[in-house]
Amino acid sequence: HAPLAELDPEVAEAVDAELRRQQGTLEMIASENFAPVAVLEAQGSVLTNKYAEGYPGRRYYGGCEHVDVVERLAIERIKALFGARFANVQPHSGAQANAAAMFALLEPGDTILGLDLAHGGHLTHGMRINFSGKLYNVVAYHVSEEDYQVDMAEVERLAREHRPKLIVAGWSAYPRQLDFAEFRRIADEVGAHLMVDMAHFAGLVAAGLHPNPVPHAHVVTTTTHKTLGGPRGGVILSNDAAIAKKINSAVFPGQQGGPLEHVIAAKAVAFKVAASPEFADRQRRTLEGAKVLAERLGQDDCAKAGVRVLTGGTDVHLVLVDLRDSELDGKQAEDLLHSVGITVNRNAVPFDPRPPMVTSGLRIGTPALATRGFTAEDFAEVADVIAGALQPEPDLDALRARVSALAAKHPLYPGLGA
Ligand code: PLP
Repeated sequence: HAPLAELDPEVAEAVDAELRRQQGTLEMIASENFAPVAVLEAQGSVLTNKYAEGYPGRRYYGGCEHVDVVERLAIERIKALFGARFANVQPHSGAQANAAAMFALLEPGDTILGLDLAHGGHLTHGMRINFSGKLYNVVAYHVSEEDYQVDMAEVERLAREHRPKLIVAGWSAYPRQLDFAEFRRIADEVGAHLMVDMAHFAGLVAAGLHPNPVPHAHVVTTTTHKTLGGPRGGVILSNDAAIAKKINSAVFPGQQGGPLEHVIAAKAVAFKVAASPEFADRQRRTLEGAKVLAERLGQDDCAKAGVRVLTGGTDVHLVLVDLRDSELDGKQAEDLLHSVGITVNRNAVPFDPRPPMVTSGLRIGTPALATRGFTAEDFAEVADVIAGALQPEPDLDALRARVSALAAKHPLYPGLGA
């Protein structure tokens, strides 16, 4: 019964240090966010103790009456949020959601068509040593070298040539919106299913600030912890009853055993939050912040330093920075920003000459800072700090002080920690 700090001071100290890191730095990793305290509370609850294999009302264990309430709430809330007829809230992560969706729709050896990892796709969309690349025959589409946007003519050409069983639309590093109707038209033409992985932009969709893929796709997968701002986890949505049935059996017993009901409770809370006006306002500030950042990094001083914004701007919550003409590579730029208190990740740009551990780009996202309360004015200040850091011979002490002032202006989790 001892509290964590008493029972295990080593783990407690690392958790406290991580809280201080999150509070004292500016988090701009595009796939990260800060879950509300109520989400942390649900996830840290006694629901972690419960086995509940099966689905609400059809469990393989006794004593599931309360976790049934929780899982039904999560299902109904996310269906309402995205206008979907069916939802499975059990996938432990985005990768598990994608594995289950593919397991439901494909046989090993079938062909899938997905966005190349090096052009912004995700590992689970067909990377060679991922399950998707090992189990299925992968054909990759790309962005065009002219405008760095997904080349729909190539998608159509590859679909006709390879007749995939599944086309995957979605991305981990791409600053524009996809044309879901056009993807569906191509899928229908070649007899493929269309899966949209909206992990990155689901929060924007929930707020009505990005087109909703649900009416266009056979299956939509998402994570719950990126723009959606909930606990780490995955969800699968569909409007097709026959596909939904296959998906349920692909998740359990196909891929997973007992669902994480404590995480499902936290998902339910996050979906309630995502239906609120405050959430919509946060997503508006997320988009606004990304636009402010893209504009600042597109100015002359950045151009002179060889810093470019891929596609010239953004429609979503992130900006991709192209450093191929800069003195800095992706790793050096990531380390430099880290040294002034801004956390981003290096990212390969399409047609990147450098290896994946180095890269020539940065992916910079605004969701976590928007959750922290940042306004357009605050984002302009962050953008100016980042632009300053990427110049030759930056004044790092001055930049560090500006980052600390912003962190102090918007306290994170003020009730938590020592
Ligand atoms: N799908 C996309 C588009 C992603 O960007 C990610 C994570 O980065 C995932 C799926 C996988 O999610 P997880 O890390 O929860 O497995």
